[in-house]
Amino acid sequence: MQPEDFDRDWEAASKELLIGMKAWRKEHKHATLSEIEAELDRRMRALRGDMLEDLAQASELADLRAVAEEARPVCPQCGARLGPRGQETRTLRTDGEHEITLERSYVVCPHCQTGFFPPR
Ligand SMILES: [Zn+2]
Repeated sequence: MQPEDFDRDWEAASKELLIGMKAWRKEHKHATLSEIEAELDRRMRALRGDMLEDLAQASELADLRAVAEEARPVCPQCGARLGPRGQETRTLRTDGEHEITLERSYVVCPHCQTGFFPPR
C-alpha cells in the first residue's frame, strides 16, 4: 500500500458516526448523560481504531520488498541492513481496547539473525 492510499473512507465513517449517534439518541430519549457518553465513546473508539489501523498500515516499510535496499532499516543490535523474510499479519489491541490488524514484512538480520516485526 502507498502511504496516501487508505482503505476506508474516513469522511463517510465520520458521517456514519454522527448520523448513527443522532439516531441512537432519538431511540433513547431517556438515556442518562453517562449512557450517552458510553455510547459515544464506544462509537468513537471504533472509528479511532479504524483510523489508527489505516495510518499505521500506510507505512513505506509495511512491505520491505518494495523498498530499495539502501533505504531499508538497520538492525538495532548490530547495525546490519535488514532484509524482508515474508509478510506477517499481527493483531494488536489499542489503548481504546479496539483490535487492529497490521500486515508487515517480517525482517531478519542477515548478520546476527535477530528477527522482528517493524513497529513503523
Ligand atoms: Zn543484527
